[in-house]
Amino acid sequence: MKDLDSLIDSIIMDRVLKSRTIIEAFENVDRADFVPDMFKESAYVDAPLGIGENQTISQPTTVAFMLEHLAPKKGDKILDIGAGSGWTTAILCHIVGEEGSVLGLERIGSLVELGKFNLARYCHDDRCRIEKAGDKLGVPGEKFDKILVSASADELPEELIDQLNIGGKLVIPVQNSIEVITKTSEDEYQRESIYGFVFVPLVY
Ligand code: SAH
Repeated sequence: MKDLDSLIDSIIMDRVLKSRTIIEAFENVDRADFVPDMFKESAYVDAPLGIGENQTISQPTTVAFMLEHLAPKKGDKILDIGAGSGWTTAILCHIVGEEGSVLGLERIGSLVELGKFNLARYCHDDRCRIEKAGDKLGVPGEKFDKILVSASADELPEELIDQLNIGGKLVIPVQNSIEVITKTSEDEYQRESIYGFVFVPLVY
C-alpha cells in the first residue's frame, strides 16, 4: 500500500468507509502528517503505528469504522478522548467545519505537544484544539453532540453518557469491543456492541 488514495479505496472496497463527508476528511487529512518520521513509509499501511510513550496512531480501518458509527456532521460539538497524534482530532475538525468544534484530550504530556503540533497544520483557530486531560474522564459538566474514545475501557464509563446531549452518540472501545451508545433521553440510551478490536488501554 503506497499511497493515500489506494488506502482509502481499499477501506471503501471493504465496505467500511461509506459516507462522503468521512471519505473527504480521510482524503484531506493526510495520515503521513501524523506518523513519526521513522514510520513515514508505512503511513498508508492499514495498521496501527507507534507514536512514542507506548501509544499508537490507530489503524485506518478501525478509525473509519468508529467514525461511520459516530456519524459526525457539520456544526457538531465533539469530544475526542485519546487525541494521541492528533489525526482523529484533525479528521473530526474537517468534518464539523466552521460552525462546529472539536476538543481533543490526551493524558500524556509529550503526546499533547505532538498532537498540537500536528493539528496546527490543519486547523488554525480555537475551534479545534488539543488539551491535557484532567483527573476525571472527559469534561464533567459539559455536553457534546458526539464523543469518540480511542483507548479501551474495562467497562462502559457512565460518566461519558452524562456528557452527551440527547440524541448524541458515544463510540468507545470496551475491552475488545466497540460500543456505540445513542442517548435517547436524559436517563436512557441504546447500546450496540461490535466485537473484535484491540486498543491501547484507557487510563483514568
Ligand atoms: N486518536 C489517536 C489515538 C491515539 S492512541 C490517534 O489518532 O493518534 C489512544 C490515546 O489515548 C493514547 O495516546 C493515550 O495516551 C490516550 N489516553 C488513554 N487514557 C486517556 C484518558 N483517560 N484521557 C485522555 N487520553 C487518554
